[in-house]
Amino acid sequence: MNLVDLTIADARRMLQQGETTAVELLEAVVDRASLTEADLHAYLTIDHDGAARAARQADERRAAGDDDPLLGIPVAVKDNMTTIGVPTTASSKVLDGYLPPYDATVVKRLKAAGAVIVGKTNLDEFAMGSSTENSAYGPTRNPYDSSRVPGGSSGGSAAAVAAGSALGSYGSDTGGSIRQPAAFCGLVGMKPTYGLVSRYGLIAFASSLDQIGPFGRTVDDAALLLDAVSGHDPRDATSYSGETPKVADADGGAGGLRVGVVRELSSQGIDDSVADAFSRTVDRLSDAGANVVEVSVPAADLALSAYYLIAPAECSANLARFDGVRYGLRVEGDTVESMMSATRSDGFGPEVTRRVLLGTYALSAGYYDAFYGQAQRVRTMIIREFESAYGRADVLVSPTTPTTAFEFGAKTADPLSMYMSDVCTIPSNLAGHPSASVPIGVDEQGLPIGFQIMAPALEERLLFRVMRAVEAVAEPVPRPTFAEVAT
Ligand code: GLN
Repeated sequence: MNLVDLTIADARRMLQQGETTAVELLEAVVDRASLTEADLHAYLTIDHDGAARAARQADERRAAGDDDPLLGIPVAVKDNMTTIGVPTTASSKVLDGYLPPYDATVVKRLKAAGAVIVGKTNLDEFAMGSSTENSAYGPTRNPYDSSRVPGGSSGGSAAAVAAGSALGSYGSDTGGSIRQPAAFCGLVGMKPTYGLVSRYGLIAFASSLDQIGPFGRTVDDAALLLDAVSGHDPRDATSYSGETPKVADADGGAGGLRVGVVRELSSQGIDDSVADAFSRTVDRLSDAGANVVEVSVPAADLALSAYYLIAPAECSANLARFDGVRYGLRVEGDTVESMMSATRSDGFGPEVTRRVLLGTYALSAGYYDAFYGQAQRVRTMIIREFESAYGRADVLVSPTTPTTAFEFGAKTADPLSMYMSDVCTIPSNLAGHPSASVPIGVDEQGLPIGFQIMAPALEERLLFRVMRAVEAVAEPVPRPTFAEVAT
């Protein structure tokens, strides 16, 4: 077996038994990247020197008796998390050439844990998109079929783990950007409770929705990746300061749990192949002892509309800092104003520009209450309806996405059809509760299908318990093969 096909848990066992080293694991994933990157383009930067140094240090630490779960494991990080001295672009031309002077808290914790950060992965510019087609540096391709998108916005982080150019990775999820690409690439992807993982050093898109979370090939791997980075951070004012739920040992099966199928997220507009795989999995959970009930969250139907006011409004404020003065690109002009506007019109791509305009409009005097205020009221309704749904069910489930991975260009001409890809995932960001996608099989074309599980805020242990139960009954999702990828 190629080292790149190992789960993190197995790689860790081999490291513990002296059957491999961090240096060998890194060489294996970098070799895989050199085979696949020309086609897939999962990475924007591979940090060859930094990763080699980290791998050597990990082997030294292990020789000295250290056995941190991620010690020596090669992981990838989405390029919207700052890395000291390593380019960080958020896939935007406006950040071309930016070298952060500090590490994001997640990056700092990974380094402290001895993980080997292979590089920075591609995304939709500033994490705005559902296909990774909005990157200023070119798209990422799906390892299962390179004529299709990997999902987005964390498409690079998903493609790297599916292809074997990393064993695990991190993305950010504002409206579905971890769970949707996880579904399209046959991976476990998880968005934690808002505040569980620090956003310090995450380049902000929509601050009240953004959360960093892991991609793994198995639920166990996702658990190790989450535990390594979760926990209070005084540098993030929205960081949760209570006890951190750790999930590595959260188990117990589905027996006796009430599993609520959310009607609004599971019926209309879902492709047959996805809907069928979803209901087969629900049946198997019931066979495994779960008590399946149907629940209704009527305001979930309004979530997409509320999100596309709240997220652009917040982004229009957050992106004001990219002005040609402080970071990255500057396009000269005769006055400060003309320099700023030339920098921004040159530096931002069309989707980012659309969002900034939408958000600025929604926040402008006279419209604020009709748009932003109304969207916030819908958000409150969604939070309340989920609270009452959790009175009727321990966890809630739905398909992760209405379709499997789509072809390049299929939705780029029509922003609304692209926005619909996140119709099942967005409600969790508005509610702030944790939510995950677990692979449950493939469609007729061999493309992976994801199953979404949602749990009440801070119930990560319950969420991982159900994720493991779903994984146990799921149909197999074969790893992508490389003859296909290399063509
Ligand atoms: N696709 C959604 C958007 O474009 C969500 C993106 C995300 O989660 N970062 O806003």
